[in-house]
Amino acid sequence: MQIYNTQTHRKEEFTPLEEGKVRMYVCGPTVYDQIHIGNARTFLSFDVIRRYLMYKGYQVTFAQNLTDVDDKIINRANEQGRTAADVAEEFSQAFIEQMHRFGILDPDVRPRATREIEAMQDMISLLIEQGNAYVASNGDVYFSVRSDSRYGVLSGRDLDQMRAGERVEVNDEKRDPFDFALWKAAKPGEPSWPSPWGEGRPGWHTECCAMIHRYLGAPIDIHGGGADLVFPHHENETAQAMCAWHLPYLAKTWMHTGMLRVDGEKMSKSLGNFYTLKEVLDKYPADAVRLLMLQTHYRAPLDFSFSRLDGAVGTLERVRTCVKNLRWAAENAPKSAELTDADRALGHEADAAREEFNRQMDDDFNTAGGIAAIFSLVSAANKYLADAGDAVSQAVTLRVADTITELLAVLGVDLAETGEKDDLPHELVDLARERCGYAGDSASEAASALLEARAAARKAKDWGTADAIRDGITALGLVVEDTAAGARLKKA
Ligand code: AMP
Ligand code: ZN
Repeated sequence: MQIYNTQTHRKEEFTPLEEGKVRMYVCGPTVYDQIHIGNARTFLSFDVIRRYLMYKGYQVTFAQNLTDVDDKIINRANEQGRTAADVAEEFSQAFIEQMHRFGILDPDVRPRATREIEAMQDMISLLIEQGNAYVASNGDVYFSVRSDSRYGVLSGRDLDQMRAGERVEVNDEKRDPFDFALWKAAKPGEPSWPSPWGEGRPGWHTECCAMIHRYLGAPIDIHGGGADLVFPHHENETAQAMCAWHLPYLAKTWMHTGMLRVDGEKMSKSLGNFYTLKEVLDKYPADAVRLLMLQTHYRAPLDFSFSRLDGAVGTLERVRTCVKNLRWAAENAPKSAELTDADRALGHEADAAREEFNRQMDDDFNTAGGIAAIFSLVSAANKYLADAGDAVSQAVTLRVADTITELLAVLGVDLAETGEKDDLPHELVDLARERCGYAGDSASEAASALLEARAAARKAKDWGTADAIRDGITALGLVVEDTAAGARLKKA
């Protein structure tokens, strides 16, 4: 399996640090508001990467933090006259709720910054002792970028060249403009904790590092986030970890997702094209949003639009109908029939689709290619059903339905769970009792009995009975659909 590593700028063969196991970490949100669909794109990408690694048989341990103390949270709390802890709690819950709706698997560990103060202070103390950090006169603690000869290794930046081009926060307390805060001295009215350097709170870059060390053990296999985090956040994370624990790197593979854009433009509140995940999921099924996002490779910019999303809804419906038709055909197929050439050819298509899906996903998680492989199997299956008439193979149709379901499940698109359920009305039982003497109490059995009675009446040219059955069915809001594998009932 090949994975693109941001640090080396190339795809590398993936070999975990410990055989059969993968330890991965993805920076979580700052919980001051509902997350937007750009954040969701990043979390979805890593959810699918994790699911695929599990599908390949790796034992994956996945950690993701909640940044629950930060300037944005404090500002929001002040605006609303609430405590920062209250704002953070509300949006931590909101985040977890939206992740569940979106079908994102829970992390194995979800540490929160405010509960990891000790681990962070331990790391900061170590950095001070080793000469990589210093306490400023105001009680801030800074990481000294000049103390680390490898600083810039992840983002490929050189400190001397950066100085000319980049805007940095100028601050008299810093020895170098690129030094960054590990600990921030308390300001009045802000949340703070006691420390050897006075009351204060941790810096953002320090969080992830200390949590990785505590919960996964450093270094780890995969560290991920959006491309906007490469510098300075991830550069600063890796600098701290390499210095504190004398490591060659914090993560063997650094993975970054491309930014989501809306209708070709950067998403922003001022352009009026800003959408939270919640408002999109209130209107669209999660599976369609997942499908749309996964049709673009995770490293490429993602062009989001509602017309593309409508397209994904339609595509998913076609896939779902195909799988339903295959299962229906399998249920009604003659038992133990000999395989025809067409049956065998479709069987091969199923194997080829699985192989192609794996080949694409092994190539730096090319979900777009993987989805194309699934769609080509769907087309082949539709053609087979149209051509086969009554002569379908139970074994082959089932195998194809299972293959499509299995491969989509790797992408977290669950046909079984979110598919429209065939819940037939119970009044069918009364109709079947009246029309064909059915004595049971199951709507689906009643439907079969009615369809059989209708077919028998038509065969005997008893049009009166056949029409009466059809009218009774229509009156319940259902229609008879004639398919390759026989008739069935569906909602009108
Ligand atoms: P934040 O809460 O801003 O730290 O963002 C959480 C995650 O979402 C980070 O991994 C960001 O890199 C990522 N992210 C932010 N904006 C976008 C975007 N427009 N497209 C994709 N990912 C994004
Ligand atoms: Zn982080």
